[in-house]
Amino acid sequence: MNDSKANISFWDLNRTVSCDALVIGAGFSGLRIALLLKKERHNWNIVVVDRLPIGAAASTRNAGFACFGSPSEILADLRTLGPDRCRNLLERRIRGVNRLRAEMHAARLEPGEFGGYEVFFADHPEFQEHVYDQLDRVNDLLSDMLPASGTYAEVAIDKFQMRFSPSALYTASEFQLNPADLHMYYTRTAEDAGVQILRGIDVRDFTEENAGWSVGTSEGVIRCKRVVYCGNGGNLSADMNPPVDPARGQILITNELDALQWRGNFHICEGYYYFRNFGKRVLLGGARHLDKPGEQTDDLGQSQHIQNHLEHVLKQLLLPNKSYLVERRWSGTMGFRRDASKEVVVDAPARNFWSLYGYGGMGVALHTEATETLLNRILND
Ligand SMILES: Cc1cc2nc3c(=O)[nH]c(=O)nc-3n(C[C@H](O)[C@H](O)[C@H](O)COP(=O)(O)OP(=O)(O)OC[C@H]3O[C@@H](n4cnc5c(N)ncnc54)[C@H](O)[C@@H]3O)c2cc1C
Repeated sequence: MNDSKANISFWDLNRTVSCDALVIGAGFSGLRIALLLKKERHNWNIVVVDRLPIGAAASTRNAGFACFGSPSEILADLRTLGPDRCRNLLERRIRGVNRLRAEMHAARLEPGEFGGYEVFFADHPEFQEHVYDQLDRVNDLLSDMLPASGTYAEVAIDKFQMRFSPSALYTASEFQLNPADLHMYYTRTAEDAGVQILRGIDVRDFTEENAGWSVGTSEGVIRCKRVVYCGNGGNLSADMNPPVDPARGQILITNELDALQWRGNFHICEGYYYFRNFGKRVLLGGARHLDKPGEQTDDLGQSQHIQNHLEHVLKQLLLPNKSYLVERRWSGTMGFRRDASKEVVVDAPARNFWSLYGYGGMGVALHTEATETLLNRILND
């Protein structure tokens, strides 16, 4: 049987044609806000829809770093945002990392506590020197938010057998996770609480009605009292679209390697490249800066140019003289604010309509607190 034309049956859709809150987007944000709302309003019929058949455009397609910014990334934020906004961003990210860590422990989803490194290209010593010169500024900012053992310190990484500069910067404060496990936990908890999650529904337009919204979708109209948009990359009809642009991030992962010498999260060059272990595998992503216009898309494919470049970094720098296979490649969509601000926004563009956006590449750390802010706004508006 060819199931490529399988649409949603009358029975499935009919259960949702009218609801108290329609959440668009079944990623971390959408599932979490649905659950938080259900806990506060037991009698609301809450429905989450997503156009994807499985997972989410970012939440199950990311690298799984619970992080707050490498030193070079923090220095770039200091330059572009200034000290106050940079401090504010760091506080939110670090609170998010700590909160997620505690919640994961409570849910028996053990975080991978291997810490995070910034590593440097050996053939760009001036960049590394600049970051080392400014490291005290970074650590001064972080020292109010982290224990002394959690700020960045210089470490030797020659034993890792990579071809980066032998000296790196390390923090014990970040951790790694399997994002699909966290997503599955949210899915199960939301469904157990009575939230309905429907997939394969692409939301297209909105018409305000007396007591709420009539929402046009690929599968017909859904009527609801409230709309909560957690779609991340922003692809709604013009009047409701948050001011964000999609940005595609590409990733590859190897087979299991017996001789892997290291564990942890690794950041390079203001976060434009990142890699980590997953067990004995190596995951590598990034290089979007090589073609920003081409990667400003919510298409979930890959581009040969960026994949070739990632393979080059993998072969020459991460796993020199080692044999391995690239087992899988994929991409996901981030949402960046159009005005280049990095603060997450909770907005209410119309009556009974809220949206949450602006995580950029940091939604793992940021979504716990941002969904609390969204909850308070929905309950108090
Ligand atoms: C490759 C990559 C690596 C990343 N690595 C990290 C990392 O290591 N650490 C970190 O902190 N962050 C990382 N991020 C960012 C992080 O994954 C995201 O910020 C976070 O997952 C966003 O969660 P969300 O629920 O807001 O969005 P999503 O997970 O994208 O969920 C939104 C959902 O809305 C759906 N949707 C959108 N529009 C519609 C519509 N019109 N109709 C129906 N459905 C719709 C989409 O299909 C999508 O599934 C990465 C992102 C990518 C792409």
